[in-house]
Amino acid sequence: MTTGIFFVLNFWKGKRKEKDSPTPPASDEQRQYLEEDCIKERITEADLFKLVCLPPSLDYNEWLATHTISFFDHVNLMYGVVSEYCTPETCPAMTAPGNVQYFWHDDKGKKYKYPASQYIDYVMSFIQKTITDETVFPTKFGEVFPSSFETIVKKIHKCLFHVLAHIFHAHYKEAIQLGIHGHINSLFTHFMVFNMNFELLEEKDTDIMQDLVQALIKSLQDHSNKLKQEIKEQNNKNSQDDNTENKENKENRSS
Ligand SMILES: [Zn+2]
Repeated sequence: MTTGIFFVLNFWKGKRKEKDSPTPPASDEQRQYLEEDCIKERITEADLFKLVCLPPSLDYNEWLATHTISFFDHVNLMYGVVSEYCTPETCPAMTAPGNVQYFWHDDKGKKYKYPASQYIDYVMSFIQKTITDETVFPTKFGEVFPSSFETIVKKIHKCLFHVLAHIFHAHYKEAIQLGIHGHINSLFTHFMVFNMNFELLEEKDTDIMQDLVQALIKSLQDHSNKLKQEIKEQNNKNSQDDNTENKENKENRSS
């Protein structure tokens, strides 16, 4: 663990927006991502609650590390697709739903308002640097994770949450146009279920997206229940067909 990382980790603190903010109040917010047609869009029907569980033979830190790297790669990829629409002109601040704005804090506690693109660039560079730091994310045999590993992972996930929240808040329309909203929905659901399972994010940080989290999980579960019901009905039908067939065979033999 380098002191540099501790230094940087203190920078990101999500703050409620101040009164003189130029963006509209939450009630005027367009939340297209909550519309039923959008909620239904996803690329996987997997049982994410099972998927995120730590297999008994695996190390907890290894599980956290691989997921953190993977979530980072996917968030990076998705933001990369919409990034051309995220300019200092379109997004002069790092905004999120519920009238939230994230400020950059330096080590002296001074806060800075940066355009979303710059904030995200700083955040993603920090994560990239951290996950490739062998003292934090060891890859070689015999090396161990630092005792602060979970705390660092929590900070990374908080940053990734900010980026996802901004995509939903400011770029969902473009995500639909580009045909990646199903990917973003699935990525966000997977990310949130993982975080809920291991209690990595704090409720006060994620409450702005709770409406979406609940809607996405409900939609996934409804779909899964519907599939189970269809399979059950098909099995019943098959066994009824078998019974009829057996009966007919018996009757043919006896005639
Ligand atoms: Zn933006």
